Amino acid sequence: MLLFLSLAIIVWFYAGGARSTYTVSPTEFNFRYIDDTPMGGDTQGTVTLDENGHVVLSCNLGSGYKWPFCEVAVSLSADAAKGIDLTHYHSMVISAAYKSPEPNQRLRVYLRNFNPDYSRIDDPVSLKFNGLEYNPSVLMSEYVLPLKAFQVLSWWISDLDVPLEHAGPELDNISLIEIATGSAAVLGEHELVIKSIRFDGAMLSESKLFQGITFTWLFTIMVLLTVKYMQSRRIYNLERSRADRLRAINVALKQKSETLSVLATTDALTGLRNRLNIYQELEMHITSREDRSCTVLCLDIDHFKRVNDTYGHDMGDKLLVNAAKIIREQANSRDVVVRWGGEEFMIFCPKRNLAQASFLAEKIRAAFECSSWAHGEPLTCSIGVSSMREASIAAMIADADDALYRAKQQGRNRVEVFSETLITV
Ligand code: GH3
Ligand code: MG
Ligand code: MG
Repeated sequence: MLLFLSLAIIVWFYAGGARSTYTVSPTEFNFRYIDDTPMGGDTQGTVTLDENGHVVLSCNLGSGYKWPFCEVAVSLSADAAKGIDLTHYHSMVISAAYKSPEPNQRLRVYLRNFNPDYSRIDDPVSLKFNGLEYNPSVLMSEYVLPLKAFQVLSWWISDLDVPLEHAGPELDNISLIEIATGSAAVLGEHELVIKSIRFDGAMLSESKLFQGITFTWLFTIMVLLTVKYMQSRRIYNLERSRADRLRAINVALKQKSETLSVLATTDALTGLRNRLNIYQELEMHITSREDRSCTVLCLDIDHFKRVNDTYGHDMGDKLLVNAAKIIREQANSRDVVVRWGGEEFMIFCPKRNLAQASFLAEKIRAAFECSSWAHGEPLTCSIGVSSMREASIAAMIADADDALYRAKQQGRNRVEVFSETLITV
């Protein structure tokens, strides 16, 4: 859009869109006649309007005055102190035809500037003489006078003793235009027909135009960059808060999954570890050591079915909770106590040898025996103990189960250690 706009403005500029004119037409302004008679001259003439609306200055230059002249004067404002600012224009265009007794006679053009520093309202001569002379055509034609070519008359500077800072041309407060016969005009009949006087200028110079376009581009680019920067900051902040939210969700999910995994591997009744994934967990304990040594106690409550039958299932549950408590109290933190199923428990001891495991088994058995139980009767357990053989946890469990079987066989409420030689067939 900006590119289109810039091109449009450039086209508009070169097509003359920025052109400005100020026309001094006979219908709007009063063209007056002046000559040398006030200075003692005998020039005679008039200024009239012809049938075409053109201003006609005709005079007969006489020799009564040293520098004879006649002229047409146009006041641009009623108040001589309030003229027109011509600094925005570059040329004065006069459409005129000039007939004089001899060819190549020149005309003088004055643009009179009022400046209170050197002008007085009661002294017409004090208006600065910005002037030039040119050679007009006998036939009606346009003549372009560049405003830059106007010079201040030197006699005016010296007569009025104008200081240097005001010695140069000034066109910002022109209240009077004069077009007079030339400085060396010959005597006789002179006729000047003025069709129009116009000042041409531009509202905008070429350099100002391109400066403006460049500034607009730079400003737009800066605005766009700022907007882009703010947009990407907003996106960045959004993404960051989204990432933070995801991270928080992840943490919450991880906690939840940890809780769920704890719940899934915990026995609801006793709070002990259940069998789920127990092999993997034990492998972690065992493989951290070179010899993969481990022992296990396989515990089964004696005649539990009878207790259930007599005191009910709820009482059975209560006794199971108490049994779990006794086992946990006797074991230490490095033993892994598992409710294997029903009233059967496994106590894995990665840090105990067979003798130490048997000792623990005996302690648990004795604790069962000595404990006072909720149903008011004694409750005992049988325990089979075994150690790692062939580096297989499953084999070790089978061995402990085997030993437990023997403990049951041999009257219950006892500890049996697995021995290969005693395998029951
Ligand atoms: P033994 O000395 O031979 O082990 O005799 P037992 O009666 O304990 O026999 P068995 O091991 O076959 O019986 C286990 C009983 O444990 C059967 C079941 O009623 C009871 N039981 C299993 N799980 C639970 C439980 O979660 N709660 C209760 N209250 N009883 C259970
Ligand atoms: Mg059982
Ligand atoms: Mg039992």
